Amino acid sequence: MDNKDEKITVSKNFIQHIIDKDLEENVYGQRVHTRFPPEPNGYLHIGHAKSICLNFGIKEQYNGKCNLRFDDTNPTKEEVEYVESIEEDVRWLGFEWDGLYYASSYFEKLYEYAEVLIKKGKAYVCDLCPEEIRQYRGTLTEPGKNSPYRNRSIEENLDLFRRMRAGEFEEGSRVLRAKIDMASPNLNMRDPVMYRIVYAHHHRTNDDWCIYPMYDYAHPVSDAIENITHSICTLEFEDHRPLYDWFLIELKEYFPTPPKQIEFARLELTHTVMSKRKLRKLVEDGVVDGWDDPRMPTISGLRRRGYTPSSIREFCDRIGVAKSKSEVDVALLEYCIREDLKLKEPRIMAVLDPLKVVITNYPEGQVEYLEAENNQENPEMGTRQIPFSREIYIEREDFMENPPKKFFRLSPGKEVRLKNAYFIKCEEVIKDEKTGEIMELHCTYDPETKSGTGFTGRKVKGTLHWVSATHAIPAEVRLYDYLFLEDEAEEEGKEMTLNPDSLQVLKECYIEPSVKGAEPGSRYQFFRHGYFCTDSKDSTEDHLVFNRIVSLRSSYNPNK
Ligand code: ATP
Ligand code: MG
Repeated sequence: MDNKDEKITVSKNFIQHIIDKDLEENVYGQRVHTRFPPEPNGYLHIGHAKSICLNFGIKEQYNGKCNLRFDDTNPTKEEVEYVESIEEDVRWLGFEWDGLYYASSYFEKLYEYAEVLIKKGKAYVCDLCPEEIRQYRGTLTEPGKNSPYRNRSIEENLDLFRRMRAGEFEEGSRVLRAKIDMASPNLNMRDPVMYRIVYAHHHRTNDDWCIYPMYDYAHPVSDAIENITHSICTLEFEDHRPLYDWFLIELKEYFPTPPKQIEFARLELTHTVMSKRKLRKLVEDGVVDGWDDPRMPTISGLRRRGYTPSSIREFCDRIGVAKSKSEVDVALLEYCIREDLKLKEPRIMAVLDPLKVVITNYPEGQVEYLEAENNQENPEMGTRQIPFSREIYIEREDFMENPPKKFFRLSPGKEVRLKNAYFIKCEEVIKDEKTGEIMELHCTYDPETKSGTGFTGRKVKGTLHWVSATHAIPAEVRLYDYLFLEDEAEEEGKEMTLNPDSLQVLKECYIEPSVKGAEPGSRYQFFRHGYFCTDSKDSTEDHLVFNRIVSLRSSYNPNK
């Protein structure tokens, strides 16, 4: 996609064109009413965010309405915990729903409409077992066969359906089916099941029901009950649209202006999986530390990682909405959070792998406070004072005893600048006698070279970040990498390779004292290391824990 096409998708997508036309033709008067219908069987992921931004975005653009509807027609997989997390996530993204509904609230109505269909001769009770139903359905190349129960009388069907509801039959022994066309080229139209018997406890209706409606029946009718105008779903449902329309045409006297189903391509991202089933498996197998593990593509994981709602909304805007499938590079999501935080968050010094440096000619016990800009690209963020003293930490990788030619950081006899402070020169390397490990460096500093004093006497090539050893705050830092190495996530039957190094925990890091008392969820840029956020679960006043949101640079170009 080139830049120009992208702009067009962003400004008006094909769904907006459909809505514009409906408004022009007054199909629904001037109403625009969408809904976001998650099944509460897991936590929402970034793919859901695309659907949320789309549905709630349309509400905002057209001054319409958008409902949040829990599609809770499947009693065995749903839980209250998921309902609560979904509400929290939608709100966190910055959206407010007009109506909050549950498909289960419509069980009685759905039942009544099913009786209407039976009375019209459009639905029947079928005693074939699931395996037989499958065999009778036929294939893509062969038509199906009529069920031997297809011509039951209306009275018998009504009686059996009522007794199904009353709990007289065993689970799986009977179903209610729509009577459409067993020879239809569209398999979804070959007398699809509308109701099945399930003796399960439902999270809201408890044990009131032992028959449950199928998605293909419950969804269009729920949309119609809520007066939805545009029912937006993902492409897998394209072949179900004739069935969606069929139910509402058969119930036309109740729903004179039925909603319209519109499909768009679901979001797929590189280096991760995007299905609740697969995500649940990662949680259950203990591969990650819960649905909100910062490596998860869930909204709660991204939030804990440190992503902002605006970065996710910007990402959803940029990917646009289209009918053709495409996988999005996760680098675009990372680009969006960098762009969002760049000018907003303070840039501070943190040493993740400390090496002690003693400045031998700096007076013992002396402390001076040096001025530092909070964000070089945003002067409005002002300045702060950082303590400097005789003992500091630098990054272990910033020193080499035998450096190659182009190494401009610290090495024996070489001089570098300490950011916002002085030039130091390495005079002596102190090693552990037994292991040979470098324990500390002895350096000297030149008081003439203080930052901001306009010293021009000589130049150095390297600038190192550092923290004062006595003032720095010890912290734990968690660095994340992708959960998966390969990109073939969604290809059926193909398992992605888990990345064994997706989490690196650094227990002994030192951060400059400005982070003291950081509230959970505080964000910073650490020089050279990237953007970080205090962990909302594990970070406390006495033990700060930082998550790396994203590293600083990437070769990614969003306009390519
Ligand atoms: P999953 O396979 O992850 O469980 P789902 O489609 O079964 O996804 P639902 O809770 O039924 O999950 O989805 C709620 C809404 O979010 C639906 O309208 C669905 O189309 C949309 N949605 C789900 N996944 C994606 C995705 N990857 N990209 C865009 N929209 C999505
Ligand atoms: Mg689903």
